[in-house]
This record gives sequence, C-alpha cells and structure tokens, in this order.
Amino acid sequence: MFTSAANVEEMLNNFRLEGSTFRYSSFVPRLYNYVRSLGFKPGKMLPSRAFCSDENQGYPIIVLTKHFGTFPFNHGRGGAVVATYRHAPYAEHGEGLVIIQASHVGYEPENNRFGTYSRIHTKDNRNTPCCGKLAGILDWYQEQYRIAQADILLERCNGELCLRIDNGLLRGTRKEGLFLRLKRLVRPDAEGKFTPLHTRSTAKSFLALEALQRQLADLDSGLQEGQRIAIGDHLKPDMFYFRRSLDETVEGRNHQELSLMYPMPWIVTSPWPLLTAAQINTQIEFDRTLRTVAHAHCFRDKCVFYISGLNIDISPQPGDPFPTTKFVPWAAYLRDRKGGQRVIEQSELVSLLREQSKENPDQIDLDKAFRDMAEAESVEIREA
Ligand SMILES: [Zn+2]
Repeated sequence: MFTSAANVEEMLNNFRLEGSTFRYSSFVPRLYNYVRSLGFKPGKMLPSRAFCSDENQGYPIIVLTKHFGTFPFNHGRGGAVVATYRHAPYAEHGEGLVIIQASHVGYEPENNRFGTYSRIHTKDNRNTPCCGKLAGILDWYQEQYRIAQADILLERCNGELCLRIDNGLLRGTRKEGLFLRLKRLVRPDAEGKFTPLHTRSTAKSFLALEALQRQLADLDSGLQEGQRIAIGDHLKPDMFYFRRSLDETVEGRNHQELSLMYPMPWIVTSPWPLLTAAQINTQIEFDRTLRTVAHAHCFRDKCVFYISGLNIDISPQPGDPFPTTKFVPWAAYLRDRKGGQRVIEQSELVSLLREQSKENPDQIDLDKAFRDMAEAESVEIREA
C-alpha cells in the first residue's frame, strides 16, 4: 500500500483526529441510521466487528448489540486484523452486513498521553501499553532505532560536518536490523560512491550530505573540531528502513508485523508510536479488506457496508464499569446488492455520520431482553 516516504506522510496527515471523534454512544446509532438510509432493513442487519481481543473493546461491542439488536459476528484477530477467511460464514448469517474494523490505542486524560491504559482490575491499577499486541511488535524496532540514534555520531573533521557511523550499522550482509539509506545522509564521491573519509577500528566517518549540513547548521556551528554528539532525534524516518525474517503467510503469524514493516520508521519516530501504529494498521486493513470484500463470492446478492476507524480507549477510573471509548472513522466502503461500489473518505464519512440522528427507535432494552429470556418458558433439551 505504501510505496514512498511521501506516501506514508500524506496518509498519516490525512487521518484526522480533531473534529472527527465520536463517542460510541453517538457513533453507533448514527451508523445504524445511515445504513438504514441506504436501504438496510431493521432486523435483517448483522454487524461484525474486527477489534482486538482486549476486554476494553467490550463496551463498543455492547453498544453495537444494543443498537443493532444482535451480538456482532466476531470478524477480528488480535491487534484488530480482519479475519477475511471468515467472510463466508459471516455472509451466510445476515442480509445487510455492516463490518466495523478498529485498531485501538489507550489514552490518559490526566496528561493527554496516547499509548497506555489504566488496568483497573489489577491490584494496583497498573498502566500498561495499549494496544499491547502492537506494543509487542514495536519493541524490537524501537530498540533498533535507539541503538542507531546512539551509534551515529556527528563530528567536525577539517571544518566539515561528518557522520561517524558504527560498523554494525554499515554491514549490508545482515538479515535483520535497521539499515541506513546512505544517500539521505552521506555525500557521495565523484563516482557516486559512499567512500569513508576516515576508517576507524569500529566505525567509519563520512562527509554529511549538504542538505543535512544545512538542516543541522545550528548544531554544526556549536561543534568543536574533534567533538562528537549522537545524532539522536535528527535520525529521520526517510533515512533508514528495517529488515526482519518473518513468516510471510497472508494472515499468518507475522501478518501484522509484515504490514507495518515499511511504515515502521514513521512509527518509531512518532511522538506517540502506538497511536501512529494503530492508525496505520487501520489504513492497511481497510485497503486490504476492501479488496477481499469486493471479490468474495459470498457477498454477491448482499448489501455490505464496511467501515474502518480507530478506537481511543480513555483510561477508566477505579469503579467505572466501562471506558468511554471514542471512535474516529477513517474510511468506508459500500457494496450494494447489484455489485455497485463506493469508497467514502474520512471527511465525507464524518459529515455523513454527523448528519444522522443519534436517536434510534429500534434499539433494544438489554435489561428487559435479559429479563424476558430468564423468564421465558424453558426449552427442554432432548437427546433423541
Ligand atoms: Zn490490542
């Protein structure tokens, strides 16, 4: 899906949070009313959800149940990857199909921080990474980035800004690790090669690219001959990429990690890596799943509305039964019974949802439904 640095940056800029955020209690009835306006019939709609497996994804599922009058089909795997191999059983169970995919990220309202969440059911209300699945994937890449930030030193040699790069980062024969895009860092020689100015025992010094010299002019002017400082945050996402040996099976063990590999430099350099990772995962899943929905035979003669977005899990206070999860729509796809298709991008989607009423006369009273079931005449189970 991503083919260039500009591509990743544009996609990230396009995913707006401000002015695009809905409480679940407002998002779901609006979604219900919108699909009703498209001709989906009450009682014949079946929602499905592709959420992460965390307990904090439960509240959105309960709200969906209340407004659609049915528990949603489970269409997701850990990390909010759509289980596209479940399309056929899902299509069999309903007429009007509404698929909701959402990656998730924790949010701490006291300090406006993304990426952690208060686990109020632990002994000490511990704050842990959220989404934990994404955090587990990111760990290794963040570590590689931290090593590179420390192992590339800026120094001044003969009045010029140079980069002293550790040999570990220059070894091209590695199968895994962080690899530098030298053309974004180092000035080539007359033949276009990246020839070191000096070769040390464990590192090599290269003349910095003119563009980089200009970018770091302030820092460069304060640097004394022979003094060295780590490149740190000046190591930007377009200057490196990652490689790792992974299982390449589609929807296999490493599916999500493989999808995130190309945009990973933007994730590890983001002020909120878990927010950026969740946004990118949503964008990748939307793009990928849309194609599978469009081509799957099982959706022929069905109406399908597929919406992707981001769940922001606001950390609860001790005693709160649920988090006040918010939803940020990213994009949607409509496939009608005759095969007509339409993609709705974020700004239009937000407007369409805002135009809808948040009143839903069809919503069910869950307490009453539970009471009725408890009081209904018992069905006898017979073996023969
Ligand atoms: Zn998760």
